[in-house]
Amino acid sequence: MARRKKLFEGKAKILYEGPEPGTLVQYFKDDATAFNSRKKSVVDGKGVLNNRLSEYFMNGLNMIGVPTHFIKRINMREQLIRQVEIIPLEVVVRNVAAGSLSERFGIEEGSALPRPMIEFYLKNDELDDPMVTEEHAVAFGWASQHDLDEMVALALRVNDFLSGVMLAVGIRLVDLKIETGRVWDNDFQRLIVADEISPDSCRLWDITSNRKFDKDVFRRDLGNLAEAYTEIARRLGVLPSNITHAVKPHVIN
Ligand code: UDP
Repeated sequence: MARRKKLFEGKAKILYEGPEPGTLVQYFKDDATAFNSRKKSVVDGKGVLNNRLSEYFMNGLNMIGVPTHFIKRINMREQLIRQVEIIPLEVVVRNVAAGSLSERFGIEEGSALPRPMIEFYLKNDELDDPMVTEEHAVAFGWASQHDLDEMVALALRVNDFLSGVMLAVGIRLVDLKIETGRVWDNDFQRLIVADEISPDSCRLWDITSNRKFDKDVFRRDLGNLAEAYTEIARRLGVLPSNITHAVKPHVIN
């Protein structure tokens, strides 16, 4: 097959031109980054696992009527997706205090929150993805108030869906991050869930032991990241058949 045109390369994924107008191919790399790429590693098998896990979550969302960019998985590392115009805001939903919320407000990690909390962050590596308010987003033209309302509605539905799916396999969804993108169906425009949903972008803790199965394993050197993601995939029954054991991550710089 002819080499596809690369359109964009990010930290964990590459986007290629798709086979039809309005489609893209999303390729999952094994690269792991944290702290805005100040910590980097290659984790063998991570891309394959995240491709499967994102397929599983996005498929489920599509099936319950939460629109996503996911069309189908093509192979071990690639999926066909709808091309969207990415809204430059990350939407975080939190159920339990952790990470930057705990640091910013001195709330102990693991404290249950009284209701799901929503935060917006600007996607801007030079600025270290600062947290922004809805007022900033509208005033600076990153999203309209209507977009923000749609983003909150989508994020809450993803949060409820993922909380239930993970609880069924003994895992608590602590928080998650989604990205959204704009699509046009004739003259009608709407936002859909884009990017990926994987343990790279959520916090997943064992319901009884609180053991972490997400990117904090890498951020905080808590063990083997591929092993943690493999355990999630195993519990969900989506373990790729050729991944029988996880490989130790090696630091490249
Ligand atoms: N998150 C993400 N990408 C980012 C920042 C955060 O996927 O660029 C996810 C992160 O994995 C966690 C949630 O968003 O599940 C909340 O992250 P937090 O603000 O606590 O960030 P941290 O300081 O821990 O990166």
